[in-house]
Amino acid sequence: MSHEPGHDPNCLFCKIVAGQIPSKKVYEDEQVLVFHDIHPWAPVHVLIIPKQHIATMAEVTREHAPLLGHMNALVPELMKQLGVTNGFRTVMNTGPDGGQEVYHLHLHAMGGPRPWLKG
Ligand code: IMP
Repeated sequence: MSHEPGHDPNCLFCKIVAGQIPSKKVYEDEQVLVFHDIHPWAPVHVLIIPKQHIATMAEVTREHAPLLGHMNALVPELMKQLGVTNGFRTVMNTGPDGGQEVYHLHLHAMGGPRPWLKG
């Protein structure tokens, strides 16, 4: 079956981007979608994902720098919008040894009153 470039029909997060699987959406623009993590590790836990399918940070090249910059630069305003006022943590898990479970690039952004993460 043919599909749009940048879309993997078997990918969970591509299905969320396409609206085939529901999500608690926080923000959307041409490049990215942001939604609440289904199993939050913190009082506020959102995932910032590119709309195009990039499986993992290991596939990222210099060409992706504007996209990666955009994803990171959105975090402060998203955290503010979600009421996080005392700091936050961003995490990107990469590959099996990096603990990545969903193979569509995503930046975790977490905040809210601690304790919720060790270390
Ligand atoms: P990873 O371990 O960095 O790949 O994180 C994947 C994240 O996706 C986990 O924190 C999951 O809770 C989250 N997740 C998996 N399925 C869904 C979903 O359908 N909606 C929102 N978050 C999800």
